[in-house]
Amino acid sequence: MRAARYWSVRNARWLRWLYTGLEGVLTALHPVLSRIGYQRLDRSVAALEKLLKGFLFDSQSCGQCTLGETGMACPMNCPKTLRNGPCGGVRANGHCEVDPDMVCVWVTSWEGSQRIGNTESTIQVIQPPVDVRLKGTSAWLRSVRKRLGVVEP
Ligand code: SF4
Repeated sequence: MRAARYWSVRNARWLRWLYTGLEGVLTALHPVLSRIGYQRLDRSVAALEKLLKGFLFDSQSCGQCTLGETGMACPMNCPKTLRNGPCGGVRANGHCEVDPDMVCVWVTSWEGSQRIGNTESTIQVIQPPVDVRLKGTSAWLRSVRKRLGVVEP
């Protein structure tokens, strides 16, 4: 739902703050999560993520969430799935060259990043190519393991 997606970008500052808090809570819960087993938890956490992030951000559940770095705009909504900035076809009114009814994902990403502030540590982070094998898996759980330097199974 695009209206919710645009709303989220307008409210990127506190949503990112909420995200950072959630990440901290999940990281603190690592001993418990680890004991239960990340793989065992993945399906249910991914389903919750899909529900929440799908509603708020039109998240495409790529499993490698960049919302915190891209102004709370999901780059997977770009028809070309570009993850490091816009193509050369953004229209003069800021809309997408492929889908003229949609504001370019990277225009919204830039606006959201400016609301968050400190764009140097957010939108300028170079994102690796998307790994399609991770689609539908939990980005939250992956983020915890990445933060703690836990080796991926
Ligand atoms: S205009 Fe923006 S959203 Fe559309 S294809 Fe190019 S980068 Fe993606």
